[in-house]
Amino acid sequence: MIESQLHKQTPQVSHKRVIDIDCERNHEMNSDKNIDRNVEKNGFPHSEHWYGKPYFSLDAYCKNTLGEKVYKIALDAGMTCPNRDGSIDTRGCIFCSAGGSGEFAVAPSDRKTDGKPDKNSIRASVQEQIITGTRLFEGRQTTHGKLSRKHTGHRFIAYFQSYTNTYAPVAYLKVLYDAALSEPCISGISIATRPDCVSLEICDMLDQLRQKYPDKFIWIELGLQTIHESTAVYIRRGYPLSRFDRCMQLLHEHHIPAIIHVILGLPGETADMIMETIQYLNHCNIQGIKLQLLHVLKGTDLCTDYELGKFHVLSMDTYLDLVMECLSILSPDMVIHRLTGDGSKSLLVAPLWSSNKRLVLNTLHKEMKQRNITQGCAYRP
Ligand code: SF4
Repeated sequence: MIESQLHKQTPQVSHKRVIDIDCERNHEMNSDKNIDRNVEKNGFPHSEHWYGKPYFSLDAYCKNTLGEKVYKIALDAGMTCPNRDGSIDTRGCIFCSAGGSGEFAVAPSDRKTDGKPDKNSIRASVQEQIITGTRLFEGRQTTHGKLSRKHTGHRFIAYFQSYTNTYAPVAYLKVLYDAALSEPCISGISIATRPDCVSLEICDMLDQLRQKYPDKFIWIELGLQTIHESTAVYIRRGYPLSRFDRCMQLLHEHHIPAIIHVILGLPGETADMIMETIQYLNHCNIQGIKLQLLHVLKGTDLCTDYELGKFHVLSMDTYLDLVMECLSILSPDMVIHRLTGDGSKSLLVAPLWSSNKRLVLNTLHKEMKQRNITQGCAYRP
């Protein structure tokens, strides 16, 4: 089955011309009420609220809502994942590398399930990681031993990134998130997880935290990757689209903003399939999206398939064409949290061009300008 789903062609992108035409048509329709609404909300298409970018970036969102640039500090909460611990599978998603955890200072035995987790050690570990993270941005140290040139303000997003960050007893999670939210430099938290690991109890607990910290935000990030079940089976995602829909309903009922991860370039997916995923998300009332290039990482089963020649990775040109098409049809209200991959360079097998993020983003911005493409220019509500 997997064999039949794999094919050696990269997604076929139609459509530099189609995107241009649609965007031009929309730009011309200045009296169109959708465009008026966009101008009103985001200042699209010539808005200072997008800070010169042709899309509504996370950076612009933070400047608009918080008044300054806000940086992310990735926290390791010592989690695992049901796709790795045997609850669903032991192999993980086909593209997911096994590393990334282990820095958390609280031993699993201290993460009690009786409603009385070891608050002090959890809080200390979170605080320590936040201090380390802020120092990275202050230029006192970097992960590579060089002085960082970045100099920032004083506000950060605590990003619970590694594995499934709601996969633990609710009492433990509450202490963990509370520890981050209580830090004065933290503007909010972003919790990466799976739709099948978001329960009513967790949403209720997040509600309580929101009431306790009314000036801070709480976001949930979900790794959907695709709406297509055939691809979901191949990548061993471990839940159907209906589970994502149920999770979204729960998040909406609790007014919790959702950021959805989508992977571009998954084996077997055509450009049309990717656009179907984007169109689907346009109607899910999500607040943000991460468009990620498929990375082939060392030691993954995806890498084995790649080395066997079962699929090709995207070229930079094809990837940028896909990103532009996605952006053109995305709602202009949607915040773009990422437009590239974010894999470890030491593990990256392909595509190697993706390690030069600056080149990728600069080329994207240049191409969008030349082709007169902006986020939402071909959006149809
Ligand atoms: S759900 Fe996330 S952490 Fe778990 S295996 Fe998949 S990608 Fe990795």
